[in-house]
Amino acid sequence: MTSSDSGFEDSHLGVELDMPRSVEEMLLPHVYVGLEIDLLSPGDGIVTDRHHASADRYEADDPMNQIGGQISPFTLSGWLRHGCEYVVQTAGATACHPGEPNADYMRASVYERDLDSGYHEKGACLDGHEDGCVLYDLFGGFGDKPGKLLRRPVSFSPIRRQVDVLDGEAEAHFRQISNQVRSRNEEDGGQPLRQADRGVLGNVEGTWKLTLRELKPEFVGLLLEAVSFLDAHSDQFEFQLGGARNFGAGIGDVWVINPLYTESEVRRVFNRAQATTQAMEEKDEVWASECRPEFVRTLQARVAARDGDVPMPTGDDESGGESA
Ligand SMILES: [Zn+2]
Repeated sequence: MTSSDSGFEDSHLGVELDMPRSVEEMLLPHVYVGLEIDLLSPGDGIVTDRHHASADRYEADDPMNQIGGQISPFTLSGWLRHGCEYVVQTAGATACHPGEPNADYMRASVYERDLDSGYHEKGACLDGHEDGCVLYDLFGGFGDKPGKLLRRPVSFSPIRRQVDVLDGEAEAHFRQISNQVRSRNEEDGGQPLRQADRGVLGNVEGTWKLTLRELKPEFVGLLLEAVSFLDAHSDQFEFQLGGARNFGAGIGDVWVINPLYTESEVRRVFNRAQATTQAMEEKDEVWASECRPEFVRTLQARVAARDGDVPMPTGDDESGGESA
């Protein structure tokens, strides 16, 4: 596969890439997803950096708790992939099923049911196209087909000065929360029936650092569209992140940080003491009006190339994109 003058691999797309800025002027191949989540409960998806299991070493309400750790990339990846699937389906194509057809599903006929509602069998897209569909290409497929998107865990710390947003880190406060489930039966006098513990993160603020191993412009288009979709539907059950969704956990304000920013401008986004500069505002304007629509157009071209029912984009087509 050859690269064009733009620095992107676009020779497979069948449309000319008309990008007003070169790849050298962008943070690519890194894509930083800004995260602001009031409450996150990823189930087993938190790894903390200390041993707090023994009761004498951890007091849940001790304000001196300074526990850092990692948010699982599996939780984050599943959430992002779901957003990407929805974008591809909205464009009129089917999405690659995330699971293998012969996997052991907990519900009977779940795979067949999904194939009737907007999915194709995982890897079926390899028949017509060497790299498969855009989801297969980006997230990976069978055995020797690694995905083109590196999804790291998000490291977190409660101490802001220890958080480096350029490394995909977030400020967040870990607590282990215990719930006593009490008897409703009057005879029992409200005695506890069982105790449920869960680890949660409060006030998550930082970045998730994604890295493209191959610089296909439609990958960027898909990530842009998926993240805006997830942001716009953040309190919809199926697009919340992690668990405890009925309790308001996993409602994320999320956005792709403008790839035209310099590294110090990315840091500035998360520095409460510093406002947006005029240079950043100008980059926001160029990004929203010229770069972003072009990336989305390449996504449309890739989807159209696989699925004949989806029209190829024309040069002046600006549909299909939610605003940046
Ligand atoms: Zn596929």
